[in-house]
Amino acid sequence: MNDYLVKALAFDDQVRIYCVRSTNTLNTIGERLNYYPSALAAVGRVLSVGTMMGAMLKNQETVTINVHGNGPIGKIIVDANAHGEVRGYCDNPHVHFEYHNVGKLNVRDTVGDTGFISVIKDLQLKEPFIGTIPIINGELGEDFAYYFNVSEQVPSAVSLGVLVGTDNRAIAAGGFIIQLLPNASEEVVDKLEKLIANLPSVSSLLSNGESCEDIIKRISGNDHRILDTIPVTFKCNCSRERFEKGLISLGPGELEEIITSDGKADVVCHFCGNEYHFDKEQLEGLYNEAKASIVAKASIDAKASKETSNEAKDE
Ligand code: ZN
Repeated sequence: MNDYLVKALAFDDQVRIYCVRSTNTLNTIGERLNYYPSALAAVGRVLSVGTMMGAMLKNQETVTINVHGNGPIGKIIVDANAHGEVRGYCDNPHVHFEYHNVGKLNVRDTVGDTGFISVIKDLQLKEPFIGTIPIINGELGEDFAYYFNVSEQVPSAVSLGVLVGTDNRAIAAGGFIIQLLPNASEEVVDKLEKLIANLPSVSSLLSNGESCEDIIKRISGNDHRILDTIPVTFKCNCSRERFEKGLISLGPGELEEIITSDGKADVVCHFCGNEYHFDKEQLEGLYNEAKASIVAKASIDAKASKETSNEAKDE
């Protein structure tokens, strides 16, 4: 079963619903670095909400989510776009906590209960949109609901879930977001609250073989229309050019040190594990570019200060 996402409008277009299944995409990420169960659950939850937030964008817009709690997993980063392409990683995938006696994965102790979540949207404008909220719960569903309510001022409910098997692979991962549109009536809010209150967890619904369409049907009481269905895939947009730029940004001093001490650089992409090798000659080329960019910047600065001093003289 491939991963996918469904967008729908419910109750006469008064409510918007997103639902995603991201099991395979999460396993693609988890397998590479042998994730432990609660780390896989934490990254899976961010992956699901990120994929749905990507689906709220259009064309070439992108979103980056950074969950930075005080838990041992460190940072969790997820990038997504409007086409269901998503990637994610965490600082430390070898973390595992369970709640005592219930055998339930403990995402809060994995992520931490203080810290922040930032959402950076590149809307192809001059400046990106950045929204930051404190972590209020650490289980993440409630935290992202808080983000939508406070930072985007859209009343929202967020449910995220990951069920992990004994082989440390996700059996089911996914989630849904329900958003009230400005025209939502009290009556619809009441109806929705009753329907959601009786809903089993999203990971149990998905692991029982329910589709995103089935889950939307439960949320809306079958009073909805599907707007869009998008395939969800793991995709990393790293490239040799990006890493070249990164190396150049280290500056000539640090590059010179790499050239004299190692004579080469092997860089690994955190997201997909692709390796990029730079030999001595290539590093020297980047060193020259770094030096040239500093000279160019210095001449612009000199020109600017000359113009300023001319202005000063005119006064
Ligand atoms: Zn990559």
